[in-house]
Amino acid sequence: MKKHDIVVIGGGPAGMFAAGFAARKGARVLLLEKNRRCGAKILITGKGRCNITNSEEEPRKFAEHFGRNGRAFLTALYAFGTAEVVAFFEKQGLNLKVERGGRIFPDRGDAKDVNRVLETFVAESGVELRTSCEVTGVNFADNKVISVSTYQGEFTAPKLIIATGGLSYPETGCTGDGYGWAKQCGHRLITQQPALVPIELAEPWTAEVCDFNLKNVCISLVLEGKRIDQRFGEAFFTRNGIGGPIILDMSSEIRDALTKGKVKLVLDLKPAVESKTFDKRLQRELAEHNNKNFGNSLGGLLPRDLIPIFIRLSGIDPQKKCHSISKDERKQLFKLFKELELEVTGYEGFSKAIVTSGGISLKDIDMRTMRSKKVENLFFAGEMIDLDGPTGGFNLQVCWSTGYLAGVSAAE
Ligand SMILES: Cc1cc2nc3c(=O)[nH]c(=O)nc-3n(C[C@H](O)[C@H](O)[C@H](O)COP(=O)(O)OP(=O)(O)OC[C@H]3O[C@@H](n4cnc5c(N)ncnc54)[C@H](O)[C@@H]3O)c2cc1C
Repeated sequence: MKKHDIVVIGGGPAGMFAAGFAARKGARVLLLEKNRRCGAKILITGKGRCNITNSEEEPRKFAEHFGRNGRAFLTALYAFGTAEVVAFFEKQGLNLKVERGGRIFPDRGDAKDVNRVLETFVAESGVELRTSCEVTGVNFADNKVISVSTYQGEFTAPKLIIATGGLSYPETGCTGDGYGWAKQCGHRLITQQPALVPIELAEPWTAEVCDFNLKNVCISLVLEGKRIDQRFGEAFFTRNGIGGPIILDMSSEIRDALTKGKVKLVLDLKPAVESKTFDKRLQRELAEHNNKNFGNSLGGLLPRDLIPIFIRLSGIDPQKKCHSISKDERKQLFKLFKELELEVTGYEGFSKAIVTSGGISLKDIDMRTMRSKKVENLFFAGEMIDLDGPTGGFNLQVCWSTGYLAGVSAAE
């Protein structure tokens, strides 16, 4: 059988980067991927557009987005940061563009282009790739990896890199296999939780406006009557509640808040308009429709899809003439626009989570090399380690930086 210096398990962004850069350093690398093709998850990133990274170039500022574990991520960021990612993709012929919030995308807005670059990189670096090759076990002895077992046989190499991803979107092949192997040889695991995940609400009507886009809104997070966070931006209703960028970014905080008490979201559909000014606008709108039914009066203020819902929630008879709407009724209507209360009942599971929080404890990894502190010839990269950030390209940057570092370190 052909000899390899390094086996890499997992052909996601982290595994492909690790394999390619290790091979460029002269190592003979075998990459094992259980799917028929590498990068199944990349294809669905950024709604099929793949937000590769973020233009926040200063490593310390970038690392702040990762909370308490950000500091440990710094060495990897210095080794292969956002500037290196941009240079890498551009050198491979992929033009990039920067969008709102520093989000960097391929210029054609197609995640397939990103995956193609990575597959080409792997192939041209001389990596031997085996797809449809699920690793079923990693075998250890005397604190060393001895071999990996697959349905295609057993593979041995002096070094192993595990990059099998987390638990989110399991249909892409990420079923958390790496956690079991890490635990088996003594690594501590931080409880894995769905992160960047849509939120479930008590309000059944969200299903009627499922996927309705809420642009430029403000959402406050309220715990036991006290506002603990507030975000501006985009969200959308889902079958069971609410999702979209600002909700995903608040989801870990919402998850924590749920363990402490009653949680509500308060939606302001018109954050750019001050309350007093909006109330006047509402009065003006109702006055303009003076002799019309209330049910036909909201077109100037609301998108069509939301009108029947607002009419129902207002409790005002849609047949009522606008001129006979009482002050209290108008107040109730005002609240729907500026302070719409949504009761949080929970959050979606791994099947709808963008990333997995938790994973292999950073205390058990030498973050300067991505080498395990428990098993001398073992390295980790990507989502499976305890490092997760907000939306905006931050999570793929974890894969590029840690994948690169694991690859070059293992090749030394
Ligand atoms: C819907 C969605 C949208 C996203 N959008 C973005 C975005 O725009 N920007 C961003 O920064 N992040 C985004 N993310 C997050 C990002 O995609 C992940 O953080 C990233 O893919 C993790 O990469 P990885 O290489 O660690 O693992 P993965 O991409 O999960 O790859 C792991 C690979 O290992 C393989 N594997 C697993 N077990 C085995 C085994 N036993 N044997 C062999 N192979 C195995 C899997 O098949 C898989 O191919 C998104 C995630 C989702 C779900």
